[in-house]
Amino acid sequence: MVLKRLNRFYDTSRFRQPQIRVYHRRAKGKKCPRYLLKCGCCEDQLEIYYAEDGLEIGGVNGAIDDWREILLPLLLLERKGDVFVPKLGPGS
Ligand SMILES: [Zn+2]
Repeated sequence: MVLKRLNRFYDTSRFRQPQIRVYHRRAKGKKCPRYLLKCGCCEDQLEIYYAEDGLEIGGVNGAIDDWREILLPLLLLERKGDVFVPKLGPGS
């Protein structure tokens, strides 16, 4: 499923800091589909190409499991069997 957003500049209404602007391109020929993420406060941007077996984030290629190992803790998620659940902090 493709994430769609209104992409207003400097929109702090949902997260109390500027929301990331999200654009999507479908697959084209040999090119994988990709998300283009733009900073909510400036023109800095990041491309994420995705496929069944891997992701390329900002030009760095890796297997899905490789990215999971790196990103899940940063997103405060952990794996419980087949599902990913928010990691409860010490205060919660
Ligand atoms: Zn910015």
